[in-house]
Amino acid sequence: MALAGNPNAGKTTLFNSLTGARQHVGNYPGITVDYKEGAFTHISHGNNKREKQEIILTDLPGTYSLTAYSVEEVVARDYLVNEKPQVVINIVDASNLERNLYLTTQFLELGCPLVIALNMIDVAKDRGIGVKTEKLAELLGVPVLPIIARMGQGTEDLIDQAILQADQPWQPRDISYGEDLDEVIMEMVAIIADTHFLIHTYPARFTAIKYLEQDEQILSKGQEEDRDTAVRLEQKVLQVSEHLLKTLDAYPEAIIADHRYGFIKSILRQGVQSHSYDDDRLYTSDKIDKVLTNRLLGPVIMLLILFGLYQFTFSWSALPVAGLESFFGWLGGQADTHLPDGPLKSMIISGVIDGMGGVLGFVPLIAFMFFGIAALEDSGYLARVAFMMDRIFRIFGLHGSSVMPFIVSGGIAGGCAVPGVMATRTLRSPKERMATLLTVPFMNCGAKVPVIALLIGTFFSEHKALYMFGFTLLSWIVALLAAKLLRITVLKGAATPFVMELPPYRFPTLRGLAIHTWERTWQYIKKAGTVILGISILLWAMMTYPGLSLEQRASFEQQRQTLRAGFSQEVIAESTMKNEASSSEATTLRHKLTSIDQQESEQALRNSLAGRIGITLEPISRFAGFDWRTNIALVGGVAAKEVIISTLGTAYSIGKIETESVDSLSERLIRSPHWNKVVAVSVLVFISFYAPCFVTVVCIAKEAGHWGWALFSVSFNTLFAFFLATAIYQIGNWLG
Ligand code: GDP
Ligand code: MG
Repeated sequence: MALAGNPNAGKTTLFNSLTGARQHVGNYPGITVDYKEGAFTHISHGNNKREKQEIILTDLPGTYSLTAYSVEEVVARDYLVNEKPQVVINIVDASNLERNLYLTTQFLELGCPLVIALNMIDVAKDRGIGVKTEKLAELLGVPVLPIIARMGQGTEDLIDQAILQADQPWQPRDISYGEDLDEVIMEMVAIIADTHFLIHTYPARFTAIKYLEQDEQILSKGQEEDRDTAVRLEQKVLQVSEHLLKTLDAYPEAIIADHRYGFIKSILRQGVQSHSYDDDRLYTSDKIDKVLTNRLLGPVIMLLILFGLYQFTFSWSALPVAGLESFFGWLGGQADTHLPDGPLKSMIISGVIDGMGGVLGFVPLIAFMFFGIAALEDSGYLARVAFMMDRIFRIFGLHGSSVMPFIVSGGIAGGCAVPGVMATRTLRSPKERMATLLTVPFMNCGAKVPVIALLIGTFFSEHKALYMFGFTLLSWIVALLAAKLLRITVLKGAATPFVMELPPYRFPTLRGLAIHTWERTWQYIKKAGTVILGISILLWAMMTYPGLSLEQRASFEQQRQTLRAGFSQEVIAESTMKNEASSSEATTLRHKLTSIDQQESEQALRNSLAGRIGITLEPISRFAGFDWRTNIALVGGVAAKEVIISTLGTAYSIGKIETESVDSLSERLIRSPHWNKVVAVSVLVFISFYAPCFVTVVCIAKEAGHWGWALFSVSFNTLFAFFLATAIYQIGNWLG
């Protein structure tokens, strides 16, 4: 057995009390740089049998961490990984828990068999600090035994427990270090696992973290072991360090330390530690948290902050969004007047400008949303949101670690389910993980936000922020209910305890916010310019071809001829002039001609490949209030949700005639007989909850390790969404 802990935690005192050897007990740091061994006989009381055992105990030098910053740390760590003691007794000073548990987090990451001796409970008591050992043990996943080393109290039970833990397989535990670092760590772990880099000595994740902490010893060991891999890892560290310096103005070491303390704080605040000392000694972060994560006040403030975020996003982005909308309108008009008629013109106007314009037009909205979320994230508030949501999540059979995947997927708005699905890796229980994996696509990802914003802006323009807020709440409620449903049916199983990291509050830097906002916005723009453009053109083609047969076209031309025959030459000439005050006769002719043109293009759209698909689905989709044009957009949305807007734009622009003024998709929808507020809500609900986009489905299959779950996700979500949409449409109509 090895004794490890902070200096002055009481290792030597315990060592002496157990072994009876004369050791020097002192306060000078560095006094036990060489480890000392001693032996004693222990009579264990397990299983009602008295068993005698010979135990060899090693007193390790006191350290504050397992990163090789000092000789003591190198000695202690080398002993652990090279000698591999059968069990480690981590002595923790109960009167100084927060600082002492910092080392404990690294034993957890190393994964050695561990028992915690909670020492100096007499001192803690004197200072008015109470510690709930069972709760602490549950949250750390390690046995915790209270002792008073100086009086030899509790040491028998401690050794009994240590014997039980001895020789357990090493089991490294993951602690999350925030989005940026977790991603790099995952990449580094993959490299390490591939090349078996230092794997005989350290767990892969441990090595990755020590690389990020710039641990001299491991860096040089790495160079000796395998130069290529070492260089690859160092490069990863360099990249992420630069990124963190730019965005958070901090080195990885600092972020890692912050998260470890956050991890500890969240354990302590879950009823582990109770104080009776006065408030003056609380840190600023803790003071802020007293209000912001208060049981009653916290959630209210959280809802207000989120509502404020939507208000900010919608009001500040309204002007630039309108500006871009009219710009694309103008661009369409220019293309209309300057390009020769034909399929190329149709593709550029309907496929490219309307399609891309619909997606790009929302760039300001997305950027403002990302800015707000970056501010919440960089300040540390987002972690508090997760902390508060955890209480709710348990009720629905999800784990506290599910909250982050939900937020990453767009829980507040504007995320993406792909990283969300990958973020579920932090969940240990396979059932909780599956339930999370299957419900994160319900969140309002960055691709759904513009669609939601468009429909809300069109049909509920008076209360945009309120409706956005409502839809966000709805998506959470539905996701949680669906999770509960899964957890009481196909994914039945017990809940596991949860520890959540709470980093201290920081003032976000403007530079960091700008970089975070730009990175995500640029990704959105890039996607619009590549994938979405491609799908948009493909869908345009599906909506244009095969088009009308020669006879059909001739028949429409015939109708126009017959109509014109009834008017004089002057009236016909006058009717072709746009935007001029014309006689009533010319206006009538123009309207009648327009109506024929409309019938022709509608006929063409119906006859197109996409049109036929939409029409085939209409007998079913009618129950939820979707017309065949909307169906085309919804089917297209399975490729990528952004496409819904661009396809609606194209579907409703192909059926429209250019003699009318160039107008926006909103105006077209408002005028369409197929759309009203009830349909808008029904479509919104369907879009929120139906099949995840293609990339997410692939990701789910990969993460779940089975295509069955991906298919389940597609069919379950679509049926579920359709059921909800139908209910809303039917009830809405019934209520009038
Ligand atoms: P080490 O640095 O971890 O080896 O710590 P030591 O064993 O040298 O202990 C540091 C000081 O704490 C000594 O003065 C011990 O007498 C004292 N000490 C150790 N255990 C206890 C305890 O349970 N209660 C109290 N009150 N003092 C203790
Ligand atoms: Mg000592």
